[in-house]
Amino acid sequence: MFSWRSIQRQNFTDWKKLFVFLELDPLSIQKIDTNPRFTLNLPMRLANKIKKNSLDDPILRQFLPLIEEKFTATGFSPDPVKDETFRKTSKLLHKYKGRALLVATSACAMHCRFCFRKNFDYDTQNKSFEDELRAIRNDPSLSEILLSGGDPLSLDNKFLQGLLEELGKIPHVKRIRFHTRFPIGIPERIDEEFLDILSSIPKQIVFMLHVNHPLELDDEVLRVLKNIQKRGIPILQQSVLLKGINDNEKTQQELSEKLIDNGIVPCYIHQLDKVEGSAHFEVEEKKGISLAEHLRTILPGYGVPKYVKEIAGDPAKRPITELTSYS
Ligand code: SF4
Repeated sequence: MFSWRSIQRQNFTDWKKLFVFLELDPLSIQKIDTNPRFTLNLPMRLANKIKKNSLDDPILRQFLPLIEEKFTATGFSPDPVKDETFRKTSKLLHKYKGRALLVATSACAMHCRFCFRKNFDYDTQNKSFEDELRAIRNDPSLSEILLSGGDPLSLDNKFLQGLLEELGKIPHVKRIRFHTRFPIGIPERIDEEFLDILSSIPKQIVFMLHVNHPLELDDEVLRVLKNIQKRGIPILQQSVLLKGINDNEKTQQELSEKLIDNGIVPCYIHQLDKVEGSAHFEVEEKKGISLAEHLRTILPGYGVPKYVKEIAGDPAKRPITELTSYS
């Protein structure tokens, strides 16, 4: 039987195969980290969108381990958002009022080089969510549970259904939010069975989709996202501002417009979380402010993403803004 898992097995995890596939210049080997701790993992769908023989491609740059990851940089650390401090159980993080985040799995459809959770000490031994569900049941202040990871869509339907059904029984939980990047790499994951499970849960489901570049959204990806929307599930989008990838007006404008045209609400542009090994992706806030200002002047108000950063201990994401005069 056809399964999205078989598509996932085609992911590039061996840099030599990727090099051949992308017809990269053998000299560029010197620029890559051939044995990174956070391994190469790139879905075939995304690899097919990469320009041949170019290390500067905006998709490739998000997934190819470069030698720069080995460089140390001031202010960059293994856990920049202090996830460990907010751990209530091995898989439950409680940072903000009313919301808690379930680290549903360590697995992802792809490995993004700038991921702030790439060093997270995942609990891979205990697969059960008993402790987490108990903690959620015992805290009536929690009205929204975020399913994150890793990527929660790495879990199979049966397992997800069990978890969602348990969350569905907790009266004070009103909303369940999926944080995912899966559909842009393996849209086949959004199968009818999964959609039926979502429809059967008596809570408002919300999707927060991580997309950084308009090329990540092709017709097939947009089609499966529409299938989610048809079930009454809103899709919001967040991105990370990344040097050489989406730190220009054209890309940001194209991305926001493509999202809005497809009923997806651009929600956040995140300043990079300073996880070690990612300094080469950092964009100056001054430039980020100017990009955010550009979007504010060309997009309808409902489609302007908020430019924010996460500061450990803050009660919410902090907006990055600067008062602008139009005179
Ligand atoms: S998909 Fe999300 S969690 Fe997974 S590596 Fe990318 S940014 Fe990190």
